[in-house]
Amino acid sequence: MKLFDVYPLYDVTPVKAQGCYVYDDQGTAYLDLYGGHAVISIGHGHPHYIEKLKKQMDAISFYSNAVQNPLQLAVAQKLGALSGCGDYNLFFCNSGAEANENALKVASFDTDRSRVVAFKNSFHGRTSAAVAATDNLTIIAPINAQHKVSLHDLGDTLQLEKTLQKGDCCAVILEFIQGVGGLDESTEVFYSEVAALCTKFGVKLIADEVQSGFGRTGDFFAFQKYKITPDIITIAKGMGNGFPVGGVLVHKSMEARYGMLGTTFGGNHLACAATQAVLEVIEKEELMHHALEMETYFREKASKLGDQVIVKGRGLMLGLDVGYDVSSLRKKLIYNHHIFTGGAKNKHVLRILPPLTVTKQHFDEFFNALKQEL
Ligand code: PLP
Repeated sequence: MKLFDVYPLYDVTPVKAQGCYVYDDQGTAYLDLYGGHAVISIGHGHPHYIEKLKKQMDAISFYSNAVQNPLQLAVAQKLGALSGCGDYNLFFCNSGAEANENALKVASFDTDRSRVVAFKNSFHGRTSAAVAATDNLTIIAPINAQHKVSLHDLGDTLQLEKTLQKGDCCAVILEFIQGVGGLDESTEVFYSEVAALCTKFGVKLIADEVQSGFGRTGDFFAFQKYKITPDIITIAKGMGNGFPVGGVLVHKSMEARYGMLGTTFGGNHLACAATQAVLEVIEKEELMHHALEMETYFREKASKLGDQVIVKGRGLMLGLDVGYDVSSLRKKLIYNHHIFTGGAKNKHVLRILPPLTVTKQHFDEFFNALKQEL
């Protein structure tokens, strides 16, 4: 059997990883400023993470959601305390797309409506409603196109009010900092108006924190920079530091009922152990504070590249807009300097999504390489 060939691949074969480095089958070290797409939060092979998962595997790896699993509640309590979102209830799933799919379902169940407002340049995943709310026609199959989605300009309150007035919207889904799109962020005024309009028209505000959550922006969630209380928050990526786990935080004002959502694998014992380890390390190593310090250092270094390079994003969810297509630059960084970076839908943006444990020395290594290639 061959593989269903959907990924264009770089010619690198990682076989081990430690901290901020990934090692290939030739023993070459690659500096990981991509985190496997914002997934590696506490660093590769963190000893606490490994110990916790190994212990859990020795005890029990999986049983279904038909029986008690106290680890789920322990994660929910720790997550509520560390994020400051104790007013939400947690539903576990397995990925970011699933988190958004379930969030949209909750919004639709709760309002008994079906239209979704999403924003241009958004990315919410590849499942049916999530991909329909994603601004990329090439990944929306005809079967996904049945969903009613209004794609709006980020920052356009009038357009949003007009759509919400019609009374058929269940949700507005929003990345407070766009990830895949290219690190665009609107203003505090716009976000406050979105929240106010959602309240006015009884529409659920979903904060997609799949990429920006779990401390990546220096706040636990990107929306926390603003005084906003989303109805639903979605999480994945950094949550498991590589273990596939996602979640939906549903505000306690919305009620669950048996059978409303469900999953076989979501919230299994290993996923809980991984998430718990991540939360403990974020807290103990003060990684949110560290993310902000590293952002300051990154911006200082980037400012020396000249005015043609613009820094975008927050914390360790960063982008460099270099003013031209970065695909060949990314290749040069990988093959000439052994540094992983990310691309974006906005082709001019080089994305920097390192483990939250990244240091000044790592950024020095990156900027030395970048200066040679720019
Ligand atoms: N939402 C956002 C903001 C994302 O960046 C992504 C993935 O890049 C997703 C959802 C989908 O997550 P997954 O690939 O885990 O389904």
